[in-house]
Formats: sequence, C-alpha cells, structure tokens
Amino acid sequence: MRRKIVAGNWKMNNTLEEGIELAGQINDLVENTEINDVDVVIGTPFIHLTEVNKVVGEKIGVAAQNCADEKSGAYTGEISASMIKSTGSKYVILGHSERRTYYGETNEILVKKVNLTLENGLAPIFCIGEVLEEREAEKHFDVVKSQIAEGLFHLSAEEFGKVVLAYEPVWAIGTGVTASSDQAQEMHAFIRKTLVEQYGEEVANNTSILYGGSCKPSNAKELFENADVDGGLIGGASLKAEDFMGIITAF
Ligand code: PEP
Repeated sequence: MRRKIVAGNWKMNNTLEEGIELAGQINDLVENTEINDVDVVIGTPFIHLTEVNKVVGEKIGVAAQNCADEKSGAYTGEISASMIKSTGSKYVILGHSERRTYYGETNEILVKKVNLTLENGLAPIFCIGEVLEEREAEKHFDVVKSQIAEGLFHLSAEEFGKVVLAYEPVWAIGTGVTASSDQAQEMHAFIRKTLVEQYGEEVANNTSILYGGSCKPSNAKELFENADVDGGLIGGASLKAEDFMGIITAF
C-alpha cells in the first residue's frame, strides 16, 4: 500500500549553519514524538545535503530540490544525480513550479532529470499543478494530465513505482491561499484515475500523491483526511521545526 509522506522544501533558505540547526531540531522532534507511520523528508539546498544527512537519523530522508539534466562533465555550476546520491540523499524534488517558471524547465528537460534520478537510485518527487488562469478557464485537469504524461509516462510500470507525485496548484504556493479540501481531493482522484489508465490499478493505488500549497498545521488534517491525499510537500511551514511537526502529526 502507498506510503504517507510529509516532505519539506526549504527552497533557497538557511545558511549551512542554520540548516544544520533546523535539521537537528526536526530530527529531535521526530525521534521523540509518536508518529503515525509517515515518511518524513527534508528538501534542502545542495550545500546542506551532506551535513543534513549526517544530522538526521533513519526516520528522515533527505531530498535535493533539483538535479542536472546531464550525467557529468563540463556543465559549470550544475549538480548531478550521482553527486546527490553520494551525499546519502534519497529523493530529488523535480519540476517545482518555481523551476518551471523561473528557470525554463520544460517537460522535455524533466524527462532527462527523471531518468537520471531513477538511474541513480533516487526517488523523484515530481511536481505538477496549474496556474490560476488555467483553473479559471477550467483547463486544470488537462494541464496536470499533460504534465504527468509528458514528464513521466515514458517510464515502465516498475520505474514509475518509485515516483512520488506532488500536486501543487501554483496559485496556492507561498500565497497563503490553500486549495479547499474538496478541490484537493477532486484533483488527486483525477490524477489517480489517470495513473490507472496508464499503469493499472495496482501501480496507481501504490503511488503517493502529495498536496502542496500553503499547507500548515491548521489545515493539514482536513487535507490529509481525503482518500487520495497521501501527504504534503511543504514550503514555508517546513522552515520552523514545530510547524513542520504540526503537519507531520496531522495524520
Ligand atoms: C512549495 O513550494 O512546494 C510549497 C508548497 O510552498 P508553500 O507551502 O510555502 O506554499
């Protein structure tokens, strides 16, 4: 059966020292709190990966927030999937709307990143989601379906089994506006139906689909109660250990 996952996305925040401190605080809380069978993930900037992996125990997985679309070589400033793997990390967040919008990440580029991530034994946390105009024009289902199809449907069922999906309506990211519980469930059910059509019931039912977008301790429970919402990808609220824990314990 699919895993429940709460993953933090620190984005471009925290010096190395601050990141080590925050990871230590989260680790202490996770170690000393009764947690309801939830996988906890911390998505840090590249510079933190090695040290955060040393600070956290087995109950926490570490994620990078991006990886290069090439294996290795003359790509100044890039970080490859194998380099991320060598830090002890387990996940790579891919296709975040900020990367799609600010860094021109297309589905074509994402296919290369997804493949390299999987080849290196890392699990992609693959982000999808519509902008407000697309929702208002009632195109949100088509947009999300094509992001999934173009970014992931080249994978075999076995490969796809390692992917975590994160539905993040762009209008809800960092805005304080959260999708309603019904809007989240409606989209997550649609995504799962899309996976059934491509890979069948078993793969679809084993895929964790996270919600992201202004999720916080006060709304996490209502969102996570939905049948097809398997956890969250958390931005702002993952930068404070207590808030992040409040979301983890919402299950
Ligand atoms: C995100 O960036 O993945 C995110 C969900 O951000 P926030 O929780 O701050 O809306």
